[in-house]
Amino acid sequence: MHDVILVGGGPVGLFAAILLRQAGLDVLVLEQRTSRSTHSRAIGIHPPALEALAGAGVAADLVALGVAIHQGVARSAGREVTRLSFGALHCDYPFVLAVPQIQTERVLETRLGAVAPGAFRRGVTVTDVHDAGGSMLVTTSTGDVLQAQLVIGADGGRSTVRTSAGVPASLRPYPDTYLMGDFADGLADRSTAVLYLEPGGIVESFPLPDGVRRWVVRTPSLVSAPTPDRLADLIRARTGVDVEIASNSMLSAFDVQRRLAHRFVTGRTVLIGDAAHQVSPIGGQGMNLGWLDAVELVPMIRASLMEGRDVGRELAAFNVRRRRAAVTAARQAHLNMALGRPLPRPVLSARNAVFSRVNAVPAVHDAIARTFTMQ
Ligand SMILES: Cc1cc2nc3c(=O)[nH]c(=O)nc-3n(C[C@H](O)[C@H](O)[C@H](O)COP(=O)(O)OP(=O)(O)OC[C@H]3O[C@@H](n4cnc5c(N)ncnc54)[C@H](O)[C@@H]3O)c2cc1C
Repeated sequence: MHDVILVGGGPVGLFAAILLRQAGLDVLVLEQRTSRSTHSRAIGIHPPALEALAGAGVAADLVALGVAIHQGVARSAGREVTRLSFGALHCDYPFVLAVPQIQTERVLETRLGAVAPGAFRRGVTVTDVHDAGGSMLVTTSTGDVLQAQLVIGADGGRSTVRTSAGVPASLRPYPDTYLMGDFADGLADRSTAVLYLEPGGIVESFPLPDGVRRWVVRTPSLVSAPTPDRLADLIRARTGVDVEIASNSMLSAFDVQRRLAHRFVTGRTVLIGDAAHQVSPIGGQGMNLGWLDAVELVPMIRASLMEGRDVGRELAAFNVRRRRAAVTAARQAHLNMALGRPLPRPVLSARNAVFSRVNAVPAVHDAIARTFTMQ
């Protein structure tokens, strides 16, 4: 009988397991993949998440690996529209840290191995979870049945735990599609995020470690057979920037959706991360949101399992608060996507002029900086 079984060893499951173990609980993480996914996803880690990661003992390692982004610049037709600085944020980490998700997961996995040796099992697919009265039974594809007082579903957007718990999820597809790729960073503004607001649609570029830059381009439809040349052509046509095609190290075309579980807590099952809420990556908050779920949840689990306290009311409040946080992040992503849609040049220029004027007001600038960094 384990205290907690976590289904899913992605960034959120690993992080929650570390916090649970640090709180003195016995945890087991079951991950279906035999090796880490190389599919490139999250890069942005926001200040509140960095503070949480410090509590898990991994912030320093991640900061050493990543690039600290202290400001973002919006450009259009080769000219600066406006600038957003994170330097004045009142927090321990006044920047957005850019680290590829695969490296973040590696750091978390190493830390979990240190605090809870043997607690992470790869190559184990969970097929069913059910409440057997006093405990939870977790069935794997090999027919093993494991037992825990509580199950946390951190098993991503298509969560088996969510399905087993009979929790419906609403799904909202968006019309936006993107092509994304990493190239050698030839730009002068090395640690600056740049948004190119252009009539054909937005182009975003972010610094990554090891002299690499990630480019994300909004496309009219999903590109079925992406090539580095195609992405380089789009970047050049909209921004005038020439990326070095031969240096391409990652390429991916994706569409976006929002998924929200109707409830995050069902008896002895709790959903966190993408299993509970999937938000559009345009805004870069999904993984951060999942970590903040765990930060709120772990003290309740500790109080319930170690002190025998009834935390029913606190869990109900957790459910309300975290769903609200997910809806807020989804709205922010929705706004970011709208900002990046194609517009005729005169309309775009008028909108950019408004942005520039409004963002020049210090109070507005600071409020936008806080919103973008999840504060
Ligand atoms: C292109 C892109 C860019 C993004 N950029 C950002 C960003 O900059 N910042 C940000 O915060 N977020 C970003 N995101 C979102 C982020 O990647 C996700 O929110 C994050 O991966 C969610 O983590 P998770 O652990 O909840 O789920 P996942 O990463 O999906 O992990 C779930 C794990 O559960 C395992 N699993 C699933 N089913 C089972 C089962 N039945 N049994 C055992 N194991 C199972 C899976 O193999 C997987 O390892 C981006 C996403 C995309 C697609």
